[in-house]
Amino acid sequence: MAVSLSFHGAAGTVTGSKHLLEVQHRDGAVHRVLLDCGMFQGEAVGRSKGDPNRHFGFDPGGVDAVVLSHAHIDHSGLLPRLVVEGFHGPIHSTPATRDLCAIMLEDSARIQEADHAYDLKRAKRQGRTLDEPGPLYTVDEVPPALQRFEAHDLNRAFPVVPGITCTFTEAGHILGSAAVHLTIDDGDRVLRLAFTGDVGRYVDRLLPEPAPFPQADVIVCESTYGDRDHPGIAEAEEELLRHVTEACVERRGKLLIPAFSIGKTQEILYTLNGLSNQGRLPRIPVFVDSPLAISATGIVRQHSASFRPEVRAELEHDADLFSFPGVEFVRNPERSKQLNARQEPCIVIAASGMMEAGRIRHHLRHSLPNPRNTVLAVGFCAPGTLGHDILSGHQVVHIFGEPVTVKAAVLRMEFYSAHADRGELVRYLGCQDPARVRQLFLVHGITASLNGLQERLAAAGHHNIAIPHKGQRFVL
Ligand SMILES: [Zn+2]
Repeated sequence: MAVSLSFHGAAGTVTGSKHLLEVQHRDGAVHRVLLDCGMFQGEAVGRSKGDPNRHFGFDPGGVDAVVLSHAHIDHSGLLPRLVVEGFHGPIHSTPATRDLCAIMLEDSARIQEADHAYDLKRAKRQGRTLDEPGPLYTVDEVPPALQRFEAHDLNRAFPVVPGITCTFTEAGHILGSAAVHLTIDDGDRVLRLAFTGDVGRYVDRLLPEPAPFPQADVIVCESTYGDRDHPGIAEAEEELLRHVTEACVERRGKLLIPAFSIGKTQEILYTLNGLSNQGRLPRIPVFVDSPLAISATGIVRQHSASFRPEVRAELEHDADLFSFPGVEFVRNPERSKQLNARQEPCIVIAASGMMEAGRIRHHLRHSLPNPRNTVLAVGFCAPGTLGHDILSGHQVVHIFGEPVTVKAAVLRMEFYSAHADRGELVRYLGCQDPARVRQLFLVHGITASLNGLQERLAAAGHHNIAIPHKGQRFVL
């Protein structure tokens, strides 16, 4: 049996998670299983011919099955494109991941269509022809991908292709997130491969902690925060309250919180709800300005059985952990535009987390030039994204192709990361006997994080640790 693994995204970078497993059996039959099918995120998504999202690096028609770790777009965002390009196998995920993908992928298609329409209009206004391809996929191309989903509960083995079974375990990263464990058996040898997907925090407020997993021969591990540790949990609630007080009560400005619609938005609402229940939240309007985040919050409510036990117990006193006096959920685009023009102090939570897409861009365009306002980044912003530029201290950034001066205060809070920090990643792999792990691949990180984690895992006894680059193939 020949088994190989090639890396087609999140290799030496954070987005675009895609790893292709190829198993050649003794009778010559070849099976290909794709782990995740994520989008490379950044300004150029769908907008240039050189966009890496237009070139998978393998034949989608030759893939037999996809196993999906979780619903974030950098892990799931190219599934409709994969189907358009000829994939016709099953997409395996947990039930919550399937439910979230239904809203995430449609939202992604809408954003791409809107971006393309905007570019066309702008080109026309400037009297030039637009030299860019259309969206990676349209809203109409999403349902054929959704029909391919097959949902599986955690901790139950299911067949993927002949000779390969899969079991999902709790990853604690976002609702529905799972680590993927493949058992590859050709009758001669058994190879166990673990793919962490994205790993959550041991202090996550809503979700259970990442679960230990069976001994693996080969591990593919994420590294987003492989070079740093997050502050503790109690400090985070106080820190958020301090930012709200300073931004909205003392400076009388707007507090913009760019947040992923899924996970981060609910964590922030849950924390604000807790502060409100304690009577400590200042009376300031809170706007959740994202139709996707509103839909996602509904799905999170439906899956409240996945919350950690302490949180489930809270539901007995407070039936809705994501809503409190003063919060308004904004679906209507006209209402969203009113908020752009609003001068009074308020909190606006809007997607996307990396500030690349969604309504947050309109809020930033209106609010960044005013020194009374504050932008609070609560998650990771990959290099090349607007969020990264703002956090790097750029005095001028470009939004919708126009320059915008940054005079607002720019703050960062690490706690609301959905990702394990360095110590937590080492703890997560602590369930493994390092001597029995033959190969360890580090993915989903920038260079400093990948190197930082490699150093720590080597110190913990792991050997044969590789940092693959895009397109690289390894025989297992
Ligand atoms: Zn993720």
